Amino acid sequence: MVTQEQCLYWDKQDELGTFKNEFALPNNVIYLDGNSLGARPKKSLNYAQHIIQQEWGEDLINSWNKADWWGLPTRLGDKVGQLIGANAGETVISDSTTLNLFKVLSAAVKIQAEKYPHRKIIVAEKDAFPTDIYIIEGFIDLINQGYQVELIEGPAGLSEILTTDVAVVVLSHVNYRTGYFYDMTAINQQIHASNALIIWDLCHSVGAVPMDLNQTDSDFAIGCTYKYLNGGPGSPALLWVNPKHRDQFWQPLSGWWGHQKPFAMAQHYQPANNIRRYLCGTQPIISMSLIECGVDIFLQANMQKIREKSLKLTDLFIALVDQECAEYGFELITPKAHQYRGSHVSYQHPHGYEIIQALIARGVIGDYREPEVLRFGITPLYLGFEDIWHAVQHLKAIMQHQEWNNESYLVRGEVT
Ligand SMILES: *Cc1c(COP(=O)(O)O)cnc(C)c1O
Repeated sequence: MVTQEQCLYWDKQDELGTFKNEFALPNNVIYLDGNSLGARPKKSLNYAQHIIQQEWGEDLINSWNKADWWGLPTRLGDKVGQLIGANAGETVISDSTTLNLFKVLSAAVKIQAEKYPHRKIIVAEKDAFPTDIYIIEGFIDLINQGYQVELIEGPAGLSEILTTDVAVVVLSHVNYRTGYFYDMTAINQQIHASNALIIWDLCHSVGAVPMDLNQTDSDFAIGCTYKYLNGGPGSPALLWVNPKHRDQFWQPLSGWWGHQKPFAMAQHYQPANNIRRYLCGTQPIISMSLIECGVDIFLQANMQKIREKSLKLTDLFIALVDQECAEYGFELITPKAHQYRGSHVSYQHPHGYEIIQALIARGVIGDYREPEVLRFGITPLYLGFEDIWHAVQHLKAIMQHQEWNNESYLVRGEVT
């Protein structure tokens, strides 16, 4: 039996507990959606004001140099790099995860086409976040050179598909729906043993789990900054390239920001001899600047400790749903084994959508993903053990009183 007192005790013992003060969250909300849109760092408000008033308003165009707007993609890239096992100069912040996938996929396919021209298969997962599959499809259609996408059923499908025809594999480090967490070391070894290249989508793992892209010899990585990293809605994404691949080819979104000498206004494209070749054009500077507020909090904490607390909180969530809601038919689809669990917990339930709406009405914000999946994001820097206790008590009450069975939940918003 887990009790509320026990949760309170764990909160008192919690070394990361004070980080909650760094975030602005509304009262009476238990926010279990930081894996989709991270909470707002308190500092971001003053910082946004500074950027708008001072850097834009007063310093105007001088800010490209004075405030180093021009250097932001790499300066922030180096900070985010510390969370993913990247060395300085290997990561940029730019554009969106979707666009960045297009860039690194193009580079990976070009590298492979040179070495192994017969390899024409790009592998992704059936259960990938759809944008990843859509981009692969669009890329294949655009280059029109006989490439094919093969979708696998999950980790088990990988060994079967890794034939001599596979050029590139695109995988989500943590699956957005189930929370399944890939073993990066083992998967990289497996993929490299077949001479394919790996692109890791880190959207649900950066800021959620520790990782080391260099030590595991990954090839390419992309990921969001507006989820666990709290960069703000639509903040630009990360892009990492293993230095051994970086200068081999240039990516086809060869805009002026990726040029070797952007201000020479040269007639032809010449890629920068560094990670800036993965940039394209002018960035949303205000949105990008705000990423720093969230990342700085992570750099003060410690990813190992964040991971430990994340596992304790997800264990607690699962134990409490077993204990309090056993009779209501929630089916856990997140792995119980720590080694395969990211930082969210998902259940399948036939009334998943309505239950999530009823939870939101009670101030417990999780989200719903097709088909029938209730998803609860666990962000150790602003959630405590008692929050989990209360969230599950609300869930129990909703099931007990059938609060989900409400006509207003039959109409769905455009964004679910
Ligand atoms: C959130 C998410 C994306 C979103 O990409 P955007 O370009 O920011 O819209 C892509 N892939 C995964 C795995 C995600 O979870």
